[in-house]
Amino acid sequence: MAKVVCVLYDDPVDGYPVSYPRDGVPHLECYPDGQSLPTPSAIDFTPGTLLGSVSGELGLRPYLEGLGHEFVVTSDKDDENSEFDRHLTDAEVVISQPFWPAYLTAERIAAAPKLKLAVTAGIGSDHVDLNAAIAAGITVAEVTYCNSVSVAEHVVMMILSQVRNYLPSYKWVIDGGWNVADCVQRSYDLEGMQVGTLGAGRIGVAVLRRLAPFDVHLHYTDKHRLPAEVEAELNLTYHPTAQEMVPHLDVVTINAPLHRETRRLFDDELISTMKRGAHLINTARALICDRDAVVRALQSGQLAGYAGDVWYPQPAPSAHPWRTMPHHGMTPHISGSSLSAQARYAAGTREILECYFAGRPIRDEYIIVSGGALAGVGAHSYTAGD
Ligand code: NDP
Repeated sequence: MAKVVCVLYDDPVDGYPVSYPRDGVPHLECYPDGQSLPTPSAIDFTPGTLLGSVSGELGLRPYLEGLGHEFVVTSDKDDENSEFDRHLTDAEVVISQPFWPAYLTAERIAAAPKLKLAVTAGIGSDHVDLNAAIAAGITVAEVTYCNSVSVAEHVVMMILSQVRNYLPSYKWVIDGGWNVADCVQRSYDLEGMQVGTLGAGRIGVAVLRRLAPFDVHLHYTDKHRLPAEVEAELNLTYHPTAQEMVPHLDVVTINAPLHRETRRLFDDELISTMKRGAHLINTARALICDRDAVVRALQSGQLAGYAGDVWYPQPAPSAHPWRTMPHHGMTPHISGSSLSAQARYAAGTREILECYFAGRPIRDEYIIVSGGALAGVGAHSYTAGD
């Protein structure tokens, strides 16, 4: 029987919830491109409950223990001799999440001789050393599309809250003030602005679609051009590179994976070519931006604001400069972990485990690494040797 080790974020400080604001989450027929939602044989949880924290256990315990497997769930992943490290030595399956990543480094993979499957309960497997996984013959899978629209909604929220100066205005209310001038001295309409995305995949296109009704001018850059009918429908301006796109934009949103081409792409040099007072929104991966270049640009006014939910490392230390830099709208990594998204990635994780334990192929759209090579969706999104 297998040992399955699952690393999840901690429960709420007031304890695991006993009730929720709503009685459920809407039922979706399929994802926007027609891909089917996860298809496990059954689920042992109520959609809309907190599944992503330690006590939620992704709703997997009855299923895994019913098959006789050992199931360990912990949030303890970073300290020396963490619970994760202790169980890794004889784990066959590791489940982790981008929100609270159990960094599966080459050293940890070397210390896990029985490891066969690493599942990302979410999207984005850059917390796994994919080269080491390839060398060790480990399968890496993620739940593609489970939270793409969740992130797109968060991006739109952050763009509006930044451009309209929502968070400082809210703070004046909490502080008992009625300081209209203080609030509006940095507040603009989004209407008429030039808004563009780095990356026009599942999230990027969902962001563009949601922004189109705001009567903005939409731009994108991507390695592959979108179909002409999509460009026409959304009135998109295509730019071959980020360098060519960003000087035109009032708002830049980053929706590309972290890999060799995007790592530290937004450095002092690229940010200096942006319009003074542009907003930068990054819900993709923190390392796509140079941490200190972002701080400098906010301090100088080159950027009017920076918002996002991705940090490095995660959890971010209390002294991380993005917690205190001016004009930011950061959240912890939450955009892809709404209760709605949790139901999908918990079900998708179960689908992957059912396939693995039954010896059936895992769907191609979930596969990142398989058979000693990048495969499935991973062969498209990642580059071997990164
Ligand atoms: P997709 O693979 O659907 O889209 C990513 C797009 O980025 C693709 O169209 C890809 O191009 C493009 N791209 C890759 N490299 C470059 C580059 N150098 N320049 C321009 N475009 C590039 O992924 P998703 O939209 O689902 O997710 C995007 C990223 O968002 C994920 O990799 C993940 O890191 C992050 N994410 C964050 C979440 C959160 O909770 N904050 C949750 C989910 C994802 P092409 O495919 O044409 O080669």
